[in-house]
Amino acid sequence: MAEFTMELNDEQREVRDWLHGFAADVIRPAAAEWDEREETPWPVIQEAAKVGIYSLDFYAQQYFDPTGLGIPMAMEELFWGDAGIALSIVGTGLAAVGVLANGTEEQIGTWIPQMYGDQNDVKVAAFCSSEPDAGSDVASMRTRAVYDEAKDEWVINGTKTWATNGGIANVHVVVAVVDPELGSKGHASFIVPPGTAGLSQGQKFKKHGIRASHTAEVILDNVRVPGSCLLGGKEKLDERLARARERAKASGGERVKNAAMATFEASRPAVGAMAVGTARAAYEVALDYARTREQFGRPIIDNQGVAFQLADMRTQIDAARLLVWRASWMAVNGKPFTAAEGSMSKLFASETAKKVTAQAIQILGGNGYTREYPVERMHRDAAIYTIFEGTSEIQRLVIARTLAGMPIR
Ligand SMILES: Cc1cc2nc3c(=O)[nH]c(=O)nc-3n(C[C@H](O)[C@H](O)[C@H](O)COP(=O)(O)OP(=O)(O)OC[C@H]3O[C@@H](n4cnc5c(N)ncnc54)[C@H](O)[C@@H]3O)c2cc1C
Repeated sequence: MAEFTMELNDEQREVRDWLHGFAADVIRPAAAEWDEREETPWPVIQEAAKVGIYSLDFYAQQYFDPTGLGIPMAMEELFWGDAGIALSIVGTGLAAVGVLANGTEEQIGTWIPQMYGDQNDVKVAAFCSSEPDAGSDVASMRTRAVYDEAKDEWVINGTKTWATNGGIANVHVVVAVVDPELGSKGHASFIVPPGTAGLSQGQKFKKHGIRASHTAEVILDNVRVPGSCLLGGKEKLDERLARARERAKASGGERVKNAAMATFEASRPAVGAMAVGTARAAYEVALDYARTREQFGRPIIDNQGVAFQLADMRTQIDAARLLVWRASWMAVNGKPFTAAEGSMSKLFASETAKKVTAQAIQILGGNGYTREYPVERMHRDAAIYTIFEGTSEIQRLVIARTLAGMPIR
């Protein structure tokens, strides 16, 4: 187990500086254009693929960094560049993690390369769990997967919503109900291969922020996938369902829910790190502006009312980063989240990003309110962090119930 450290080692510093260079030279200059276009920034993803940032290898290397700082450091730098473009670059990772976590070696080897494509023909992937009536309440999911034994195929029907890269993905990972009696433990994940009949894109959402990231409904109408597309395989699923039925009988479902919670605790710090990146970006713009903008014959930072805001912004950003790094270190080193530290980090960092980006607009005055300066976009982008991967209310619920020793529901 690695000791918790707040010091990046030489190798991590090198990676951070390289990512920062890409964020500053390639992502940030493209941010306003793709925000206005509200389209996936394919050329930027391709650039990222060319230099090795858009690849499973890169994320795996960061993920297995025993200090736990690899992923948060990478997310902070890319999202510092621009949240919408960065989500287009890392969004495929959500689906890839779904396959890595539940797939067999063969499934990993077959599908993950198809999720990323190659640098001359980049592809993206989508992870489809949320539904119109199942957002925070994942257990109320309705999309159904039924096994057709005669053909060794699964038949999937339902509507997914809010899917990042939904409909434009080469590979979709779809979560569906296989046993409605078991709540979230009766769910299983399926690969829907490229070009599968019955999968189509529904509405593409016009969003408040992260507009360079594609978000859409995914309709599954009698989608048939081979038995080999069930992540983990049928035997493992049958064993898991049998165990879940036993546990549900023994504990009224309590342990089932706690097991689901542990998975989110480990992934939430990464979203916290994205929020830290956006908050830091807005803070830096505001600090620079406050030093150079003069009113009443002096830089506005000479007013305590402005300087104290910057002091609070920086304090909150640093505190958020520390919570994120702690939770990420805990996740990598298998430490139990006895106080829901993963949710804590996501809650604090996402609320900080919303607050700090609003303060940045205030410090830039009229300029902050226009699209001539990037803080207006950053403020719109920051609002997503308190919503996806569990809203702030759900994080508070998870933390409170963990502290109280109550089941998570
Ligand atoms: C841009 C974007 C990208 C996304 N990408 C993906 C993706 O790739 N894949 C995917 O599967 N999903 C994705 N999502 C979905 C996202 O995870 C959900 O939007 C989120 O979980 C919230 O669900 P909901 O929108 O249905 O809100 P609801 O669950 O309906 O919540 C509405 C409000 O009620 C509050 N609330 C609900 N229950 C409680 C409670 N018990 N106690 C207190 N307050 C409560 C919430 O906090 C919120 O304020 C994305 C969403 C967006 C906006």
